[in-house]
Amino acid sequence: MSAKFTDLEKLKRETFNCTMCGFCKNVCPVFLDVGWDTGSPRGRITMAYGLITGELEPDDDLVNRIFQCTQCRDCWRRCPGKTKCPDVVLAARRELVKRGRAVEAQKAVAKNIRETGNIFADLEVAFPEQEGEISLFIGCQHLSRTNSTKKNIRLLQTLGVSPRIVREVCCGFPLEVMGFEVECEAQIERLKKAFPVNSEPILTFCPGCKVHLEKVFGRDVRHVLQEINERLTPEKIAKPLNAKVTYHDPCDLSRGAKIVKEPREILKKIGCEIIEMKHAKDTSRCCGGGGGILTWDVEISDRMGQARMEEAVATGAEMVVTACPTCEQTLKKAARAVADKNSSKPVPVYHILDLLFKAIR
Ligand code: SF4
Ligand code: SF4
Repeated sequence: MSAKFTDLEKLKRETFNCTMCGFCKNVCPVFLDVGWDTGSPRGRITMAYGLITGELEPDDDLVNRIFQCTQCRDCWRRCPGKTKCPDVVLAARRELVKRGRAVEAQKAVAKNIRETGNIFADLEVAFPEQEGEISLFIGCQHLSRTNSTKKNIRLLQTLGVSPRIVREVCCGFPLEVMGFEVECEAQIERLKKAFPVNSEPILTFCPGCKVHLEKVFGRDVRHVLQEINERLTPEKIAKPLNAKVTYHDPCDLSRGAKIVKEPREILKKIGCEIIEMKHAKDTSRCCGGGGGILTWDVEISDRMGQARMEEAVATGAEMVVTACPTCEQTLKKAARAVADKNSSKPVPVYHILDLLFKAIR
């Protein structure tokens, strides 16, 4: 029998909370793809319980199911007893990573963050430091898109935001969701040195960074769409877009940060008509990019992305808009795959800030 899963055991009561009703199966993007109970939230709860009691060994199949979870949190929303399956999965991951069960691609991301401060191992990704009234945390993904981020910063300044920019490092969120506990704690220490904050507001572009920074700093961190929505008045709109769009809610922004109203209000202000997908707002479906799945299983990630894109295409909207750089990338890839399947043109996918820039320029 393998060594005891002592950290996971702290969540034993959470595993008792599950009544095995199965309501969560119908919302889990992994179960909907693989069709096996071990791929469902209740399956993961059962496996975690088995690890705690020692009745199950962490074999390859079990480890695979634990790492396939996208951390979308839809099971938690749907569960009648509010079982925190995503937390149980994270605790299991932390124990499995300590036992050396992470894949090379995930170890490489952890190494990149440790050695270079960002997920891409790109030492060039930085913006000129500047003083300002609000601490802006750009995040690895946006930092790597220099041109669009320059525009985003200009957009904020046009709306009267004065961002303070420092040479930041990764917030550690990717390490947390992949289960790299020791590395995550070390990264948070580096973050606090690189991104010192006092009482000034903190603003971020990225949904994942928002959720994670709030935990790190123990206080409110604003997502950029909250700030923009408050400042975006009709006279700021130079070119209304007059487009029919559908909006994909990123899991970390909708179920994580409860921000569903602001992006829709912004889209309406810039002249967009929104056609909602079947699963929208707090019932939104993962795009296939969450919880480290991109570094664990690209095939399942691609299929999830395509399922989401098919839902978007079914709305008949001219374009898909989202507010997360990872969702944007996975949905763009999915749009190409769905278009190939249907012998049609890919539906354009935009980050909401890029659309906004077009409208107020
Ligand atoms: S967090 Fe999402 S992917 Fe993970 S078990 Fe729950 S519904 Fe499935
Ligand atoms: S919905 Fe909740 S109680 Fe029901 S099987 Fe899923 S995790 Fe268990």
